[in-house]
Amino acid sequence: MELNGVYLDELRDFFVKNGEKAFRANQLFTFFHKNGRWDVDNSNLSKKALEIIKVQKISKTEILKVLESKVDETKKFLFELDDANIVEGVLMKYNYGYSQCISTQVGCRMGCKFCASTKAGLLRNLSPGEMLGQVYAAENYYKIKVKNFILMGSGEPMDNFENVIKFLKILHDERGHNTSYRNITISTCGVVSEIYKLSELDMPINLAISLHETNDLDRSAIMPINNRYNLDDLSKALDYYISKTNNRITFEYTLIKGKNDSEKNVRELKNRFSHLLCHINLIPLNPIDEYDEKRPSREDINKFKKLLEEASFNVTIRRELGPDIDGSCGQLRAKLLRGDLNGCCRSN
Ligand code: SAH
Repeated sequence: MELNGVYLDELRDFFVKNGEKAFRANQLFTFFHKNGRWDVDNSNLSKKALEIIKVQKISKTEILKVLESKVDETKKFLFELDDANIVEGVLMKYNYGYSQCISTQVGCRMGCKFCASTKAGLLRNLSPGEMLGQVYAAENYYKIKVKNFILMGSGEPMDNFENVIKFLKILHDERGHNTSYRNITISTCGVVSEIYKLSELDMPINLAISLHETNDLDRSAIMPINNRYNLDDLSKALDYYISKTNNRITFEYTLIKGKNDSEKNVRELKNRFSHLLCHINLIPLNPIDEYDEKRPSREDINKFKKLLEEASFNVTIRRELGPDIDGSCGQLRAKLLRGDLNGCCRSN
């Protein structure tokens, strides 16, 4: 059992079954999730309780590297897991508080053409304790409390559904980190079956959909998930999610020059989604070596935004955070693995 990735009830059962008092579970849960620690030898657990937990797993998520932007207050992390796998994370400061981007898998098997995280496929899922560990490691490092979480690091959260939900329920627990579901966003390429599952959980989490194309032919060409669940399937699932949660959907739309930035795209979006309670977030493509496309010019991006607004969509262009410390998901880790991480900015 991963002790720092289970519910308080499970910890209680574990201690009682092993002849210890149930309140030891409360002590340990507080130590893990309120204090954000895993060095249990320094906790106030009894000798007997420490003896009992000794043979169980406690995941440690350590900071391997921190990159701090000189342009803004964005920080990027490389976290090292117990098996020496590496995932990345980002911490951003907004006027309403800190926001952290969390990785949910080592690698990814979704195969989106423009994404660096998926190039080597999926290595493995992260456990709940490893996702919580990213939060606590960043908070301890900067002595802060993070308010908002976006599951938009490496991995497809809906492809690691059970662990992700457990992570979020523990993060939400008022005896631990006490994060509101309203401050959590899951980003998905559109795993429709899991969107339905999430709809039933009574967890009013924000949903962000990586859309990137406006018709099935073009979307399938860059996002293999569209062959499994096409835009009709996705659209129905989103209607259902909104009917259950009343939450607005965010569409992430990575702008690729000459591919998805035309008037036709605006028309197709309008035909399909104008009825939907939604918001469109435009992301200029971050070029990666393996995908030979460019982002549109600033002028063309603004033009596309204006067309969407004229079609009555609510649109923002994603502010580029930490542009000097590498772009989109997977690029930092890939650089580290290539031995190519020096000199881009201050690193610890
Ligand atoms: N698997 C999830 C979350 C991780 S990807 C998802 O698909 O939503 C996080 C976001 O970054 C997604 O919208 C993804 O499409 C986008 N992204 C990935 N690579 C990118 C790149 N090179 N340029 C711009 N956005 C990118």
